[in-house]
Amino acid sequence: MLITPFSFTHRSKLIDKVGQRPVDLLVIGGGITGAGIALDAVARGLSVALVEKSDFASGTSSRSTKLIHGGLRYLKQLEFGLVKEVGSERATVHHLAPHLVIPEKMLLPLYEKRGLGYWLTSIGLKLYDWLAGVKEEDQRKMLTKAQTLRHEPLIDPTDVKGGAIYAEYRTDDARLTIEIIKTAYAKGAMPLSYCCVSDLMYEQGIVCGAKITDALSSKSFVINAKVIVNAAGPWVDELREIDRSKTGKRLHLTKGVHVVVGKERFPIKQAIYFDVEDGRMIFAIPRGRTTYIGTTDTTYLSTKEDVYANKEDATYLLNAVNRTFPSANLTLSDIESSWAGLRPLIHEDGKSASQLSRKDELFESESGLISIAGGKLTGYRKMAERVIDLVFEKHFPARENTCETKSIFFTGGEFKDYKEVSHYKADVEKQLAKHQLSNQADYLVSTYGRQTDLIISQLDSIAAPDPQTKLLKAQLWFCFTHEMILTPADFVVRRSGMLYFDIARLKDSKNVILQEFKKQFSWSDQQLGEEELQLDTLISSCTNFIN
Ligand SMILES: Cc1cc2nc3c(=O)[nH]c(=O)nc-3n(C[C@H](O)[C@H](O)[C@H](O)COP(=O)(O)OP(=O)(O)OC[C@H]3O[C@@H](n4cnc5c(N)ncnc54)[C@H](O)[C@@H]3O)c2cc1C
Repeated sequence: MLITPFSFTHRSKLIDKVGQRPVDLLVIGGGITGAGIALDAVARGLSVALVEKSDFASGTSSRSTKLIHGGLRYLKQLEFGLVKEVGSERATVHHLAPHLVIPEKMLLPLYEKRGLGYWLTSIGLKLYDWLAGVKEEDQRKMLTKAQTLRHEPLIDPTDVKGGAIYAEYRTDDARLTIEIIKTAYAKGAMPLSYCCVSDLMYEQGIVCGAKITDALSSKSFVINAKVIVNAAGPWVDELREIDRSKTGKRLHLTKGVHVVVGKERFPIKQAIYFDVEDGRMIFAIPRGRTTYIGTTDTTYLSTKEDVYANKEDATYLLNAVNRTFPSANLTLSDIESSWAGLRPLIHEDGKSASQLSRKDELFESESGLISIAGGKLTGYRKMAERVIDLVFEKHFPARENTCETKSIFFTGGEFKDYKEVSHYKADVEKQLAKHQLSNQADYLVSTYGRQTDLIISQLDSIAAPDPQTKLLKAQLWFCFTHEMILTPADFVVRRSGMLYFDIARLKDSKNVILQEFKKQFSWSDQQLGEEELQLDTLISSCTNFIN
């Protein structure tokens, strides 16, 4: 398999290159929105640089519910256009990365005295399937009470009237983002992480470049660009402020929290979307050896860096689970890990956090800065298409262009369909068995897709005391070489998902990970100590709910 190396050793060359001549497009923000924009632009022939102030996907794009979904809630808000767009996008993104965007049937229990009611839900889901163009075999099925409880025996039967099963897709948001970044890079885009835009530059009032600070070297450099797109998610308004164009609409940030418990403590058989007494709805989703639960939706006014779940958030989620699944009896001590993210929504006077629209909006300032906010992980490709259509219309009207992202497979995603993914998984399992490794194929393939071959190819040459450590080192090698990991958090949170979904393994293997980083980046013992402290603080922030 041919895959372009994307590592620390290429970073300084990339920084030199990006400063040499103006690019057509500079994208600010390396979340899913910026990644999608960079890929669309480079595929249409523009020269593209992307800067991200921390790691790729370190903002909201690693902190979502991790669903590529049609957004049933938009139907409740009567946003039919949005349901149609994100609904049909699910199938497209599944096609581009079938190992990473995986069909998941969702169970919706229905109650006598709360929620939408049986018949309204039946009609609503039918409409949802129709708007989203769901294939016949995947269309919603209504269930009787007995069928609902058979699907999920842990549900409290009191008041249950029936249920519905409908189609969604689950994913890993951070992996989706990094694969799109890598795909854009392989096509010639220049993505730089740990590079923050500290100021914008103008010529006769028109924005024409940005001052960038490299967080690793603390050095500054300039990127000149014909067009700049601000895809900074929750930070979009900060850049509009620098541009002196924060007028009219503004962002309204809402915080959403997820908690993770061991599967043995909450052993649901499938993903469930259930009502909470305050009228909101919550997901419980099995993943690997865990089940995760989310989300909250509260207006957020505090610092945007280092957002974590607190005791109140966690208690809200646990109470919601315990009311619907009383035998679970979850307590704070059951929480293995957690994450919290900020939704960059557009403010609407008089609306509460959960009533705000999830629709994306484009703002074009007098200086020419294009900002995009709102939206969903699921709709990233269409959002990018709208942005790049505008970029061509305004700045390159004479250049031929067509959006091609519907047929660009992501790195690792070269599968015909999900059946082929299953065959590949079986083959990987056999190969791993030769190295005394079992039950890892599902995780590896849904994380790295066909790039799992590269990880396996390293196993023979790695020295390690046991097969598990050998595999971890091979995974680290792959991420050092092909995924631009620069700090331990990049690996444990956004490339491997260990912090959220395998925290016990993370705690056990923390020293191996730190030692591999030390070797890779020639850290001194003092640096190693500082990095260890940072990693411990991160682990504690996701697991400690005393306050
Ligand atoms: C709790 C929660 C659950 C969600 N669940 C789902 C879901 O299941 N499905 C779905 O489709 N959507 C979901 N969403 C929405 C989705 O996650 C977001 O719409 C999406 O991730 C936003 O991506 P983004 O790229 O716009 O923002 P971000 O991912 O935040 O990216 C913006 C990036 O810009 C960078 N940046 C900021 N300032 C600068 C600067 N000055 N210089 C350089 N870089 C900068 C930031 O570091 C950040 O990484 C959820 C959101 C939340 C909060």
